[in-house]
Amino acid sequence: RIITPKPLSPNEESIERALRPKMLEDYVGQARAREQLEIFIAAARQRQEALDHVLLFGPPGLGKTTLAHIIAHEMGVNLRQTSGPVLERPGDLAALLTNLEPNDVLFIDEIHRLSPVVEEILYPALEDFQIDILIGEGPAARSVKLDLQPFTLVGATTRAGMLTNPLRDRFGIVSRLEFYDVKDLTHIVARSAGLLNVSTTDEGTYEIARRSRGTPRIANRLLRRVRDYAEVKTGGIIHTECAQAALSMLEVDPQGLDLMDRKLLEAIIHKFDGGPVGVDSLAAAIGEERDTIEDVIEPYLIQHGFLQRTPRGRIATLNTWRHLGLTPPRNTQG
Ligand code: ADP
Repeated sequence: RIITPKPLSPNEESIERALRPKMLEDYVGQARAREQLEIFIAAARQRQEALDHVLLFGPPGLGKTTLAHIIAHEMGVNLRQTSGPVLERPGDLAALLTNLEPNDVLFIDEIHRLSPVVEEILYPALEDFQIDILIGEGPAARSVKLDLQPFTLVGATTRAGMLTNPLRDRFGIVSRLEFYDVKDLTHIVARSAGLLNVSTTDEGTYEIARRSRGTPRIANRLLRRVRDYAEVKTGGIIHTECAQAALSMLEVDPQGLDLMDRKLLEAIIHKFDGGPVGVDSLAAAIGEERDTIEDVIEPYLIQHGFLQRTPRGRIATLNTWRHLGLTPPRNTQG
């Protein structure tokens, strides 16, 4: 699988860490998010205050975790990292919050998966830097107010719509990350190739970039797999033919779609006559979780005109039929 949702394997994690840019100026693309953060970080630093809470949303692998680390680095503070599903009890979050130093960054990945009781204690923490915790049990239990150091919460989620309104309203800075264009991805592949000591030609780099589904994580992953191929087959240098051969071996097609993408598109066409089909039926047909379809697979397909989302369900477009080498029915829309 080219697109794997989290969790990543420990090996994969450590490579990602090594390839992660550490400063805002090395963070490629996402001009809007970067510009916004540049100004707010500079202002917060001048006032020696914590940066306002930041919500980052967008499909996996676009650089949300990377940005959280960059924010902490640029602010000159520590970063504490956790994720929504890991924080099971209010005490888990309270322990993290009470250990923060002034202006630290707390990064919560998959923040839409916080349990309601944990989310509840986050509200006063975000607003007043205070938490109410319950000490003891039963009739002897009492609530104690604790003051926290000022801090910045950076929350990441695949879809902003999955957050509850009260939580979303508490973020002063909200940034949506977009898929990267081929120029930016070429830059990212070239940078990673440099860090990993891989020899590539400009055309080889471009070939990997344009098949990366607009996603830096995929670009870096493809680069490493193409490198293996190059070492065995072409003396280690990644040029166009080498990249093309390696990527077709990995079943990544010239548009960057992988097996899972094609399986989904083929299911819509062959099992549901091109749609409309509801996401749950589609999930059952291809044996994939509904969330994976909505968060990981669909966004790129929709943006690139391979899929339409309508109130009655998903529909294959003209593009889809043509891409799969099929003749579309006459009423198919583009
Ligand atoms: P997310 O948290 O959105 O799933 P990550 O921040 O973990 O994504 O990014 C995945 C990988 O992609 C990182 O290891 C990093 O090397 C690379 N990456 C992401 N965004 C950028 C960027 N703007 N410039 C360079 N590399 C990036």
